[in-house]
Amino acid sequence: MDIIVLNRDATEEDIRHVVKKLEGKGLRVHISAGTERTIIGVIGDTSKVTEEEEDAFRAAPGVENVLRILKPYKLASREFKKENTEISVGGIVIGGRKIPVMAGPCAVENKTVLMAIAEKVKACGASFLRGGAYKPRTSPYTFQGLGEEGLKYLAHAREKTGLPVVTEIMDPRDLEAIVKYADIIQIGARNMQNFRLLLEVGSAQKPVLLKRGLSSTIKEWLMSAEYIMSRGNHQVMLCERGIRTFETATRNTLDLSAVPVLKQLTHLPVVVDPSHGVGKRDLVAPMAKAAIAAGADALLIEVHTNPEEAVSDGEQSLKPDHFEKMMKELKPVAEAVGRKL
Ligand code: PEP
Ligand code: MN
Repeated sequence: MDIIVLNRDATEEDIRHVVKKLEGKGLRVHISAGTERTIIGVIGDTSKVTEEEEDAFRAAPGVENVLRILKPYKLASREFKKENTEISVGGIVIGGRKIPVMAGPCAVENKTVLMAIAEKVKACGASFLRGGAYKPRTSPYTFQGLGEEGLKYLAHAREKTGLPVVTEIMDPRDLEAIVKYADIIQIGARNMQNFRLLLEVGSAQKPVLLKRGLSSTIKEWLMSAEYIMSRGNHQVMLCERGIRTFETATRNTLDLSAVPVLKQLTHLPVVVDPSHGVGKRDLVAPMAKAAIAAGADALLIEVHTNPEEAVSDGEQSLKPDHFEKMMKELKPVAEAVGRKL
């Protein structure tokens, strides 16, 4: 038993009664009050609820139906919620008809460079500024990010440009600072299955951009989204950023088939990051177009004013003129699939 659908005439008292019974069994609830009916999502180990107990819920006043979700992820599933989830950040909607673009450097390097990039991406039509202040680097001897100082630069750039900010969290100890300065918390590919970190951001009141793990299946990825949602934070977007395959011509293999697969399995918005997907500047625009055609709700693109000097991911970062050209080329693609850039 995972969902309790109340009938149109269910009263507040009926809802309270059902919630109390569920809580009495050590379960938690997520109530969605729709225009037609209220749905109670049951959170916790529902396998322990016996058939008799389930029947008792079915017979309770105000209850129309009791359903089981067969997928291991519940709150993230389409079965739980049919309508697409729209996440609104500073007035910009992710998951609606318009496709927002999140753009910026791989890492926040210093105030001046970040400001220059922020102004350029804004002028080209980006809706969000991205940039890492805590960087998950393969080598401990390379640049690790500016930390809180980098967050301050991001907040400063937001103040100047009006672009909300996306930045990565690597350690729960940084959550307070990140919540203070950022608008969307990114969980990077390397931390997709850092379950304690997922639970921590699940307790935060900020939208989360959950990147796909380097070698994670779609099911594992949705289970990670479920971790965040199970703590009450339902503002989760999934970001495809390429997976490890035998192919070496590109940095990763951008799995664009994940986009329509996710659209079937989940109501959560889907973001595509072609930059980390391909790892090479010239391949970013074609895959960004393909991502939109496949149904992406937003794009994440690395842009740098001087990629040759970038401290990380320079080879895949677009120069501002490339980015400008790509943004123009994406417009008709979006329109062809009934969307808007
Ligand atoms: C990034 O966005 O710069 C990043 C480190 O991405 P990923 O976690 O997808 O490798
Ligand atoms: Mn990067």
